[in-house]
Amino acid sequence: MQNNYDIIIVGAGPAGCTSAIKLSESNLRVALIDKAVFPRDKICGDALSGKVISVLKYTDLPAEKALHKFPEKLPSWGIRFVAPNGQHLDVPFKKDSPSGPGTAPGYISKRIDFDNFLLDEVKKRNGVDIFEGQKIDSISRDQANGTFLIQSNKESWNSQMIIGADGAHSVVKRFLSPQKYPSKNQAAGLRQYFRGVDGFANEQYIELHFLKDLLPGYFWLFPLPNGWVNAGLGLRSDMVSKRKVNLKVLFNEIMETHPEISKRFKHAEPMESIKGFGLPLGSTWRETFGDGFLLTGDAAGLIDPFSGEGIGNAMISGKIAAEQCLEAFEKRAFDKGSLAPYESKLRKKIQKELAVSTQMQQLANYSWLFNFAVNKANNNPALQSMMSMMFDDIDIRNELNKPSFYWKLLFGT
Ligand SMILES: Cc1cc2nc3c(=O)[nH]c(=O)nc-3n(C[C@H](O)[C@H](O)[C@H](O)COP(=O)(O)OP(=O)(O)OC[C@H]3O[C@@H](n4cnc5c(N)ncnc54)[C@H](O)[C@@H]3O)c2cc1C
Repeated sequence: MQNNYDIIIVGAGPAGCTSAIKLSESNLRVALIDKAVFPRDKICGDALSGKVISVLKYTDLPAEKALHKFPEKLPSWGIRFVAPNGQHLDVPFKKDSPSGPGTAPGYISKRIDFDNFLLDEVKKRNGVDIFEGQKIDSISRDQANGTFLIQSNKESWNSQMIIGADGAHSVVKRFLSPQKYPSKNQAAGLRQYFRGVDGFANEQYIELHFLKDLLPGYFWLFPLPNGWVNAGLGLRSDMVSKRKVNLKVLFNEIMETHPEISKRFKHAEPMESIKGFGLPLGSTWRETFGDGFLLTGDAAGLIDPFSGEGIGNAMISGKIAAEQCLEAFEKRAFDKGSLAPYESKLRKKIQKELAVSTQMQQLANYSWLFNFAVNKANNNPALQSMMSMMFDDIDIRNELNKPSFYWKLLFGT
C-alpha cells in the first residue's frame, strides 16, 4: 500500500466509517486508520436512534438496507421513563422509521458488533485503504506545502487533508485544535453487561431511570440480543467532582439496594467488570475545523447533553465532513476559510437540537418537575402523545422551554 493520500481519516468508529463510506466512491486516495483491530469494543449504551438509520439512508442506500438485515441487534420501539418517585411513563416512538412503516425506529446493538458492521461496509466498497492496529501518536503540518505528516507507532503517512474521527480523546484535536473546555461540558459514563436482568415490561423499550441522587444524569437498562442487558449511568463531570461522588460505588449501590432496581438484579450475572469512559457534550460549540482538517463526532464534542446520544451526530458530522472534503478537492482550497462551510452546515443540522437538549438537561435537575410531568402525562393522553413526538420533532421539544408548556401542564388548558 502507498503512504501518500489525499485524505486520511483517523478513527474507524461511526463518524470515521460514515466519512469513509461517503468518500469510497470518489476518485480521491483515502485512508482510514484506527488504533484498534476490529471487531473492537467501545464503552457505550449501545442505543441506535432513528438518526443512525437516516444518515445511512442518505449516505448509502445499500448500507441502510444491510443494517436492517444485520442480525446482531434488537429493534427498539419506545422508551420507559422512570421518575425519581418511581412512577413510570411508557413513550412509544411515534413516527415511522426513516426506512418506512413496519421497520423499527431504532435499534440496540453492542458496539463491538455495530462498529464492525460499519467497517465491513467500508471494506465492501474497496475505495478506501484501511489500516487497523495503528495508534496515531503525532501529527505535524508542513507550512510550505500544507501537507500533513501523520505517524503511528509503526508507520507514517502524508495527506493533504485530515478528518479527525478519533473520539473523546482525539489525537487529531490534541495536535491541531488543543483548546480545553470546562468540565460542565463533559460527562462521565459507566457501563456493565449483564445476563438475566428481570422485569422488562416490554423488551423492546429502553429504560431511563431518573434517580434523585443522579440528576440530571440517569441510570439506564437497555435490552440486547440473546438475553444480554446493557446497564449503565452517566453524570456531568463537574457534578461528579462537586458532589464528590464515586460513580462505581453509586452504580453498585443502585443495583444492590434500590427498592425496585435491586429486585431486577437478583438473578443477574455480570458478563464483565464495570467500564467507564468520557462523553464530550454538545452543550458548548467547540472548534470543528482549521487549515486542512475537520473534526467529527466525539472529537468535535457533539453528544446530546440530555440523552447522552452521540452515534447519530457522529455519523451526521462524518457525512458532512466527507462532502466538505469533496468540495475542497474540487476547488483545490484547503485553508481554514475555505473549510468554514463545514461548521455552518453542521450547525444548521444539529445546533438547535443541542441547544434544546442543553436546556432540558438543566430542567432535569429538578426531581419534583420530573415527578410532576410523569404523573400528569400518565393521566393525559394528549401530553403523552406530545412527549412521544418530542423524540422526533425538535420544535415540539422546544415547547419544554416555554412557560406556556408548564401552564398547560399545570392547568390542562
Ligand atoms: C458510557 C457511555 C454511554 C453511551 N451511550 C450511548 C448510546 O446509548 N447511544 C449513543 O448514540 N451514544 C452513546 N454514547 C456516545 C457514543 O459512544 C459516542 O458519541 C460515539 O461513539 C462517537 O462516535 P465517534 O465515531 O466520534 O468516536 P468513537 O466511537 O469513540 O470512535 C473513535 C475511534 O478512533 C480510534 N482512535 C482513537 N484514538 C486513536 C489514535 N490515536 N489513533 C488511531 N485511532 C484512534 C478508536 O479506536 C475508535 O475506534 C455513550 C458514551 C458513553 C461513554
